[in-house]
Amino acid sequence: MHEISLLESVLDTLETQAKQQGFQRVKQVVLEIGALSCVEADALRFGFDVVMKNSLAEHAELVIINVTGQGVCPNCQQSVLLETLHDPCHHCGSFGVKVVQGQAMRIKELIVT
Ligand SMILES: [Zn+2]
Repeated sequence: MHEISLLESVLDTLETQAKQQGFQRVKQVVLEIGALSCVEADALRFGFDVVMKNSLAEHAELVIINVTGQGVCPNCQQSVLLETLHDPCHHCGSFGVKVVQGQAMRIKELIVT
């Protein structure tokens, strides 16, 4: 389950930001998950409490925002909604759509005290 290692890197980021910005506790973590990132929201929720235990984000609330996959067609230049990384353009059928959104998981927002 690679969600655990993702959560560990989220925790690393939180600890780094806590040092830089001088907060002690994290109350809420808002994560954006791209539809093409292969991250399971359920697995994240499941692992969150485990990974955050005894950290500055223990008992923090996890909020997950799903981001759709978006690409731009190299042929017709239209934007394309992507369900998988290798979807063809649904305007003209071309392959090789350039992904512009939805491949990553990132921390969108933190509420800290
Ligand atoms: Zn196209």
